[in-house]
Amino acid sequence: MNDSPEGGVNRAATGTGEGTRAVRAGLPEPVKHEPALPGPAFAAHYHLPGDPTGPYNYGRDNNPTWTLLERAIGELEAPGQDAAETLVFASGMAAISSVLFSQVRAGDTVVLPSDGYQVLPLVRAQLEAYGVEVRTAPTGGDAQLDVLDGAQLLWIETPSNPGLDVCDVRRLAEAAHARGALVALDNTLATPLGQRPLELGADFSVASGTKQLTGHGDILLGYVTGRSAEAMAAVRHWRKIVGAIPGPMEAWLAHRSIATLQLRVDRQNATALAVAEALRGRPEVTGLRHPGLPDDPAHKVAAQQMRRYGSVVSFSLPTRARADRFLDALRLVDDATSFGGVRSTAERRGRWGGDAVPEGFIRLSVGAEDPEDLVADVLRALDASAD
Ligand SMILES: *Cc1c(COP(=O)(O)O)cnc(C)c1O
Repeated sequence: MNDSPEGGVNRAATGTGEGTRAVRAGLPEPVKHEPALPGPAFAAHYHLPGDPTGPYNYGRDNNPTWTLLERAIGELEAPGQDAAETLVFASGMAAISSVLFSQVRAGDTVVLPSDGYQVLPLVRAQLEAYGVEVRTAPTGGDAQLDVLDGAQLLWIETPSNPGLDVCDVRRLAEAAHARGALVALDNTLATPLGQRPLELGADFSVASGTKQLTGHGDILLGYVTGRSAEAMAAVRHWRKIVGAIPGPMEAWLAHRSIATLQLRVDRQNATALAVAEALRGRPEVTGLRHPGLPDDPAHKVAAQQMRRYGSVVSFSLPTRARADRFLDALRLVDDATSFGGVRSTAERRGRWGGDAVPEGFIRLSVGAEDPEDLVADVLRALDASAD
């Protein structure tokens, strides 16, 4: 027993199955009369007489609610890797920028995916403004291999958003390390239950917790899990100087959500596969992608490195008008961006202008509804959207 949240790790959380680990992840040892998950610590500063030593002195640097959440995420991203460290951030972009801007210097070269998250081109422009050379190549076919020479950092996004392409992480990480480059992987779509990047060779697993990790579409969050203490110290320093920190309430809600991560992921991912299979039979659907479909171009590589294939399905309808009518006709699927939440959402991705996708391209995020209800709604909306 221990009376402080930074006390001993809950022993039941280690050496067990993933669902068991998820429900107990990051919990402190039980303390009589205390809740299982201590509530959010709202504190801008902490009592601090004398010399300012850790762990808690100022709210931009640390917070006990973050500590527990960081421990929880670390137990899922890097089980058994005691040296790995996790830091939480205000959003996925805060986490991504903290890795990129803390690890590279003017004159360095970074390799980004050309088909990654739509804000990466803005990050690229900022890196270039600071004198960093940025090269891009597509995720599919491990094309980033061809532009690795002389790079200091390789950024991988697999499966990619929104195209759902997959690259061979072990192969890319080996090639990058052989050239002395660090490897960061955006694990947003897979979640740590879908794929564990550090075990596949990445130095950093970075993600938006806004999506399936927290899964309710009501908070923004990001995190970085890294294996190198030195590299993570620089990431922590970046968080401190930029102040890109999550609020204690968001951190606590995120931790609460992780207890149901396996339930949500298993349900949503199984339904995503069922929806993808139903869409496969439709003549108006082209470019259907879901890494779990046995005949998807990414399936073979995905099966080597992923344990679950995600809750997102992407496909194209013949025209922008058809896609808009389809989205309008859906009753159980909200027309909204983001993905991974318990309520299904879909959008015509081309409306943002940042992705190289056809006008009729739809990104569909499958929620926790009954699978047969959702499949029926999608097929009915397809019928209703025909001219
Ligand atoms: C949403 C997303 C991000 C950005 O996360 P925010 O929490 O919105 O800042 C980064 N990468 C991927 C793959 C995403 O889907």
